[in-house]
Amino acid sequence: MNQFIESTYNEPDQKFDAPLRPKALADFAGQETIKERLEVMCEAAKRRSEPLCHALFSGPPGLGKTTLCHILAEMMGTKMVPTSGPALEKPGDLAGILTSLEEGDFLFIDEIHRLQRSIEEYLYPAMEDFRIDLLIDSGPSSRSVQLELKQFTLVGATTRSGLISEPLRSRFGSNFRLEFYAPKTLAQVVLRSASLLKFQIDGQAALQVAKRSRGTPRIANHLLRWVRDFSEVRADGNMSDEIVNEALAMVQIDALGLDEVDKRILSLIIEHHNGGPVGLTTLAAALGEEPHTIEEVHEPYLILQGLLKRTPKGRMVTPLAYSHLRQE
Ligand code: ADP
Repeated sequence: MNQFIESTYNEPDQKFDAPLRPKALADFAGQETIKERLEVMCEAAKRRSEPLCHALFSGPPGLGKTTLCHILAEMMGTKMVPTSGPALEKPGDLAGILTSLEEGDFLFIDEIHRLQRSIEEYLYPAMEDFRIDLLIDSGPSSRSVQLELKQFTLVGATTRSGLISEPLRSRFGSNFRLEFYAPKTLAQVVLRSASLLKFQIDGQAALQVAKRSRGTPRIANHLLRWVRDFSEVRADGNMSDEIVNEALAMVQIDALGLDEVDKRILSLIIEHHNGGPVGLTTLAAALGEEPHTIEEVHEPYLILQGLLKRTPKGRMVTPLAYSHLRQE
C-alpha cells in the first residue's frame, strides 16, 4: 500500500496530526448536515443540563470521526477518553474505563465493530441504565455486585457499519454517516493546514493537492507535508501546480489520487478476468493484500470514482477504468 494511503489505515501520526486537528466545529470543513445536527444536539443537551445521547459515526478512515468526538467533548465542556474495539480484551478492561468516567464524559470506542461479543453485551446495561455488574472474587465465594456509573456519552466509530450488530446499533440515539469530501472542501483543509504549518500555498496548488487526496482530510494533510518537503528541497520553497504534480508523481499518486495498488486492482481485473466479475478473495490473493484492506481502503474510493462496481457475482471494472488506465 502506498505510504500516504496507508496513513489513513494505520495509527494516526500523533506528532503531525494533532496540531492540525480542528478544535471547534467552525474549523471543521464540510460535512455540513452533520455539523448542524451536532450543534442542535449539543445546545439542547446543554439547555437541559443532560449529557449528549450515545452517537455512532461511520465512514472510511481519515474522514474526521475521532476529531468530531474531540470537538463534542470540547463543546460540552467535558473530556474524551479514547479506546478501541481491539484494545478491550476482557470485560474488566471496559469496567475500569467506565468507572473512571465523570458525568457527561465521552467514551470514544474506535473500530467498535471489532468489539468482542462478551464485551459488547457488557456494554448494553452501561449504555442503557448506566450500570454494570462487577464480579467480585472467584470460585465459590464469587458474587456479582451492581455498580452505578456516571451518565456518560458513548461515541462509537466504525469503518464497517454493516458489521455492527443490531442490538448495539439500536442503543445509539443518533447515527452519523461521514462522506468523502469534495475537492473544494479538501482544498480548504489544505489551506488551513498550510497556514498552521506556516507554509505558503496558493488556492490553485491547494486544489491540486485536494484532488489527489481521495476525498480524505488525513491524506490531504499527509500529501501537503510531502509537497512541502519536496518544494523546500527541489524548488526553493516555491509552490505551483507543476511542483505539486512533480512531487506527487514521485510518490506515484496519479491525477485521480489512485496509488499503485488501486491501479493493480483495476488492471488485474481487466487483464486476467476480462473486466470481471471476480471475487474479493481471489483479488486479494493475486495482489498479496489483505481482503479487508482492499474492501475498506481501496474499493470505496474506486467505487466513488466510478471505476469499479460491486456486483453479487464479484467486482467489475467500468468503461471509465479502461480509459483512465489508458491515459496514465
Ligand atoms: P477518523 O477518526 O475518521 O479516522 P480523524 O478524525 O482522526 O479521522 O481525522 C484525521 C485527521 O484529518 C485529523 O487529525 C484532522 O487533522 C484531519 N481532519 C479530519 N476531518 C477534518 C475536517 N473536516 N476539517 C479539517 N481537518 C480534518
